[in-house]
Amino acid sequence: MSERIFIGVAWPYADGPLHLGHIAGAYLPPDIFARYHRTKGNEVLMVSGSDQHGTPITIKAEQEGKKPSQIVAQYHQQFLDSWRGLGISFDLFTSTGTANHADVAQNIFLTLLDKGYIYKASVAQAFCPHCQRFLPDRYIEGTCPYCYSSKTRGDQCDECSKPMNPVELIDPRCLLCGTTPQFKDSEHFFFRLSAFRDRLLDWVKQQTHWRQNILNFTLRYLEGGLKDRAITRDIEWGIPVPLDGFEGKCLYVWFEAVIGYLSAAKEWAKSGGDEEKWRSFWQGEVKSYYFIGKDNIPFHTIIWPAMLMGYDGLNLPYDVPANQFLTIEGKRLSTSRGWAVWLPDYLSRYDPDPLRYLLSINMPETGDVDFSWREFIRRNNDELVATYGNLVHRVLTFVYRSFDGCVPTPGEFDSHSQALLNKAKDTLNMMDELLYWCHFKGAIRLAMSLAQETNRYLDEKSPWKIIKQDRQASATALYIAISVLCCLRTVLYPFLPFSSQKLHEFLGFKGNIEDGGWQLHFPSPGQRLLPPEPLFSKLDEGLVEEETKRLGLPDS
Ligand SMILES: [Zn+2]
Ligand SMILES: [Zn+2]
Repeated sequence: MSERIFIGVAWPYADGPLHLGHIAGAYLPPDIFARYHRTKGNEVLMVSGSDQHGTPITIKAEQEGKKPSQIVAQYHQQFLDSWRGLGISFDLFTSTGTANHADVAQNIFLTLLDKGYIYKASVAQAFCPHCQRFLPDRYIEGTCPYCYSSKTRGDQCDECSKPMNPVELIDPRCLLCGTTPQFKDSEHFFFRLSAFRDRLLDWVKQQTHWRQNILNFTLRYLEGGLKDRAITRDIEWGIPVPLDGFEGKCLYVWFEAVIGYLSAAKEWAKSGGDEEKWRSFWQGEVKSYYFIGKDNIPFHTIIWPAMLMGYDGLNLPYDVPANQFLTIEGKRLSTSRGWAVWLPDYLSRYDPDPLRYLLSINMPETGDVDFSWREFIRRNNDELVATYGNLVHRVLTFVYRSFDGCVPTPGEFDSHSQALLNKAKDTLNMMDELLYWCHFKGAIRLAMSLAQETNRYLDEKSPWKIIKQDRQASATALYIAISVLCCLRTVLYPFLPFSSQKLHEFLGFKGNIEDGGWQLHFPSPGQRLLPPEPLFSKLDEGLVEEETKRLGLPDS
């Protein structure tokens, strides 16, 4: 029976290019997941968009002497190019700058207000006496009162992931001039998060299928108690508070950005001509997954669910498979100092699949992992090219040459051949199970082990050597190998969509791999193959030094 799967993906701030940390953390995993489910024949809606509001964007605009709208337009386009280049298959990648999103966000605000989950109160807002302005949270830096990490921003601590109120910071400073800000009273709206603690705790305790670290983090967080949170700010750039008397105040970006998951589904439904269709991904029998980096966990396991509970009538998250961080060459990634590998830059020089491969087989699912150029080249050359690419190439070129470009007709399968086919079937089934539970790293490792096993099978059968004396035995071994390639094409498709689609065509299949379903296809004898080409290219070891030189400086 086909399932419905909603996939919400973290909304990248439109204030800079994407880097490999973003991709490993939040963007590659949902794409693998979406492609897997589509191949299974399930209905998938995968959405995200650029987060166009908030102070990272106004800070960037101020630095570059541009308007915020220019900054967001530039990066939104770059995001779209990056998704196309890397093959991240969103059903809709929109932005928080649309009229639709403003409507949906204001509607949720008004509904929660109406139900008493939002209330008005006076709040101390940071004001810089030197700059003579109110300071948004990200314009303030200080020491985290929970983990004592210095250089903590006023909205959230990167070190311990705790959301922050600037007034909580120890020794706060204005980011623009370094002056200690004063705190002045200003009237704002608060979300009554504290009212949801018990309901959230009951709900989270039932989510035993969540990753252990995410479940534990969320439970600890809830057990520590919840504070109500201000959801409006004195800024011009954002979605206005939809009430008279609150001019110059906007919905706080964290409150409105998470609503993007819902507004994007509504936009997708409208653009498809069936305005009510979003409901099929938000109500009833549908599982909702949220793919995010670990810094976003509380917003998706606590705050967004609380907003949904308060609004009522929409599905809560089914799973939040957040990933950990990526380090670069053993050091913490720093965008400000350029210690990062930027995706547009990568895509200008390399194919997408080698990166997708490395970030899948070494995915930061349960702990931080390191990216190094040496490992990138090694895994490309030793694993993608030598293990998998060569297997495909030597089988297809030999068959193409020796069997008139067609799938050969096999004889009887001996026990070794049968065992390899069984392993292919087991791989398909085990990967099905692993992917279903978002264990991506484990899944791709199984596929690669099937490729290794097939190489061993061919080494033993050596169809290229025996073809002169026993053409039938050679044909059988090659037929078995081609059957395994059909399996690898399917199971590797979620991870390596570009090369898998090529292989699909080399094998003589038409259309999109997804249409073939998650199953082992036996190719028909006589099926016409396309002239094969290598799926991957070897990379020069010298690139390690060249690429490492491009990096900026690590965080001090
Ligand atoms: Zn902290
Ligand atoms: Zn200042």
